[in-house]
Amino acid sequence: MSSARKLIIAIDGPAGAGKSTTARLVAQRLGYVYVDTGAMYRALTLAALRRGVPLEEEPLAELARQVRIELQPSPDGQRTLLDGEDVSDAIRLPEVTQAVSRVSAFPAVRRILVEKQRELGREGGVVMDGRDIGTVVFPHADVKVFLTASLEQRARRRARELRQQGVQVAEHEVARELALRDRLDSERSDSPLRPAPDAVVIDTSELSIEEQIERVLALVYERLGCNRVQQ
Ligand code: C5P
Repeated sequence: MSSARKLIIAIDGPAGAGKSTTARLVAQRLGYVYVDTGAMYRALTLAALRRGVPLEEEPLAELARQVRIELQPSPDGQRTLLDGEDVSDAIRLPEVTQAVSRVSAFPAVRRILVEKQRELGREGGVVMDGRDIGTVVFPHADVKVFLTASLEQRARRRARELRQQGVQVAEHEVARELALRDRLDSERSDSPLRPAPDAVVIDTSELSIEEQIERVLALVYERLGCNRVQQ
């Protein structure tokens, strides 16, 4: 794919719809960089919780200007660094997940992180996953996908993932957390979670990961004006 134009691929959708796995593997197939923007909001939330910064707009924006959040491509997708420390695991802690939608709703916080995201995607060759990539971060992205799935299916997948990490959770608890986060993310006034008008909506409830990847790759090849995989 080296000679082809390097696209910006936006993958948005609610929590647990399969965005990160699909985006990571699509990036791998294309030789693109995978950028998980949720990790940036999580890293900022972690920094605020650790330092006891009030979850209010100005203190959080100030913190966002101070801390160094870096995303490094790695064999398992992406590592997240906070002031040089690898926080890839810490940003998945339940207390971070519970607070992140509150942090990400503040416009001043979003402005700072969106600027970093635009910088990361400036030259193309990225698959970026988030909530507002196709609507706000890159409204002119070459390919826009909105991945969604039923709440039951998303909760089942997320609970399975957590069990694999040794965390025992009831599916209905996971469903409650996902539904709350979706509501906060969809109802905020700045950059709410919603499909861009020109996004292709893919319901992943009945699709395997491989099928999800194939669907996204088909859109990429269509956009590049070819109908099969180029190496
Ligand atoms: O993708 P993930 O579930 O890790 O995202 C965590 C949270 O970060 C989301 O629930 C949302 O509040 C916020 N987020 C956002 N905009 C993005 C990515 C994530 O507001 N582009």
